[in-house]
Amino acid sequence: MRTAMDFDFIVIGGGSGGLAAAKRAAEHGARVALLEPARLGGTCVNVGCVPKKLMWYAAGLAEARQLAPAYGFAPAPAGPPDWAALVARREAYLRRLNGIYADQLASRDVHCFATSGRLLGPGRVQAGEAELRAPHVLIATGTTPRRPVLAGRELGIDSDGFFALGQQPARVGIVGGGYIAVELAGLLAALGSDVTLILRSERVLRDFDPMLGEALMAHMRHAGISIHSKIRLAGAEEETDGSLSLHTADGIAHGPFDSLIWATGRAPAHAALAPEAAGVALDTAGFIAVDAHQRTNVPGLYAVGDVCGQPALTPVAIDRGRRLADDLFGAEPAAWPPLTLIPTVIFSHPPIGTVGLGEEQARERHGETVRVYHTRFNPLYYALTEHKVATQMKVIVAGAEERVVGLHLIGRDADEILQGFAVALQMGATKKDLDATLAIHPTSGEELVTLR
Ligand SMILES: Cc1cc2nc3c(=O)[nH]c(=O)nc-3n(C[C@H](O)[C@H](O)[C@H](O)COP(=O)(O)OP(=O)(O)OC[C@H]3O[C@@H](n4cnc5c(N)ncnc54)[C@H](O)[C@@H]3O)c2cc1C
Repeated sequence: MRTAMDFDFIVIGGGSGGLAAAKRAAEHGARVALLEPARLGGTCVNVGCVPKKLMWYAAGLAEARQLAPAYGFAPAPAGPPDWAALVARREAYLRRLNGIYADQLASRDVHCFATSGRLLGPGRVQAGEAELRAPHVLIATGTTPRRPVLAGRELGIDSDGFFALGQQPARVGIVGGGYIAVELAGLLAALGSDVTLILRSERVLRDFDPMLGEALMAHMRHAGISIHSKIRLAGAEEETDGSLSLHTADGIAHGPFDSLIWATGRAPAHAALAPEAAGVALDTAGFIAVDAHQRTNVPGLYAVGDVCGQPALTPVAIDRGRRLADDLFGAEPAAWPPLTLIPTVIFSHPPIGTVGLGEEQARERHGETVRVYHTRFNPLYYALTEHKVATQMKVIVAGAEERVVGLHLIGRDADEILQGFAVALQMGATKKDLDATLAIHPTSGEELVTLR
C-alpha cells in the first residue's frame, strides 16, 4: 500500500542541477524531497567532471616526469602508473564527496529517497512504495551515454565504463570527436596507452572555433595518437583472442584494441519518469522542452540541466536550478538572464579555454566589422625542454568599438586563464580595455593584453 507524503518541492535527480535546486529551496524554508537512486552528485561528481579532472592531473604528472630531466632531475623510470592505486584513491575521494552532499541535504532537512522517481500526474511522484505530492516538481535526471546504431555496439564501453576500468588498457580505440572523446584520448595517451581516435567528420570539436580542433589534432598526433578522420563505421567485432576491432563500411579494420570506448553523445535520461504519459512535451531531439524559466508545458513541472538539452555543463545546471528555487520560494522573482557567453574548458592535452563566438559565427553576426587577433608561441615552461607544445590564442572583436565577442585559447594553463577573461567579456570588454590592462610577466596570459 502506498503512503502519501506532502512537500512543497519534489526534486527528481540528485546531480548538479537537482542538488543545487533542492538545497536552495530548503534554504528558503521549503519542505523538499529529493529522489536519487544512485550516488549523490550525479554525473559530474561520480562519472564526469571530477574523476575526469583527477585523471587529467595524473596524466599531467606523467608528462611532467618526462620533461623533468630538462630541468636537471634524474630521469624517472618509464611506464604507466599503478592504475589500481590511482583509481582507488580517486574513488575514495568521490565517496567523501558523496558523503558531503548527504550531510548538506540532512542539515537542510531535505528528505532523501534512494529510489527512482516516476511521474504519476500533476504534483504527484512515485518514490518506491510512497506517493509524494507537491505543488512544484523538478525533473533533473540528466543524460546517459549513447552508442551509435551499429553492429557490435554492445561491445566496448562508454565514459561510465572508462571510470569503472580496473586496469589500464594498453591499446584503446575511441570513437567520437567531441570533448569527452578528446579528453579521454589525451589522458590515456599521456598515461602510456596506445590510443586510436576514430572520427566521423574531418576534425575534432566541430562546435568550436576551428583553430582549436585543428591545433588539438596536431598536438594529439605529435603525442602519438592515431587519428582517422571521415570514417564511416560498419560496426565492432570481438576477435578470437578477446580483442576488439572496428570495421568501416569500405572494409578497413582498425585495431586490435583491449578497450573500445564509444564517446558518441548522450541521450536524455527520462524514460523511467514516463514523461509522455504525464503529458510532458519533448523537443525534436527528445529532451524535455522548457521555456526561459525552466517551465515545462505542464503547470508546476519544471526541468533543469542536461535533461532539457541546455549546454551540458555543471555550472549551467547549478545556475538554472538555483534560479528556479529562488523564483519559486524566494522573496522576489528570480532574474533569468539568457544563457550566452558560457565559458568552457576542455581538459585535453594541452587544455582549451573558449568563450563567445567562433570566427565564422562572429562574421555571420557582425559581418565586415569583425577583426581577429591571433598569436602562437612556445610557453616559457618549454624553454629548457626539447619537446615544445605551442600555445595559440585568438581574440575576435566586432564593431567600431572593437568589443570582444570571442576568445579562444589552446595551450598550457588555458584552463586557468579563461575564467577572468570571461568576466571581462561579460562586462563588455573592448580591445582597448585589454590593451589598457597591465600584463603579468612572465605568464602566457599576458599575451592576451599585448596582442597587436
Ligand atoms: C565524462 C564527462 C565529463 C564531464 N566533464 C565536465 C566538465 O569538465 N565540466 C562541466 O561543467 N561539465 C562536465 N560534464 C557535464 C556535467 O557532468 C553535466 O552537465 C552535469 O552533471 C549535469 O547535471 P544534471 O543535474 O543535469 O544531471 P546529472 O548530474 O547527470 O544528474 C542526474 C541524476 O539524476 C538521477 N536520475 C536519473 N533518472 C532518475 C529518476 N527516474 N529518478 C531519480 N533520479 C534519477 C541520476 O542517477 C543522476 O544522479 C561532463 C560529463 C561527462 C559525462
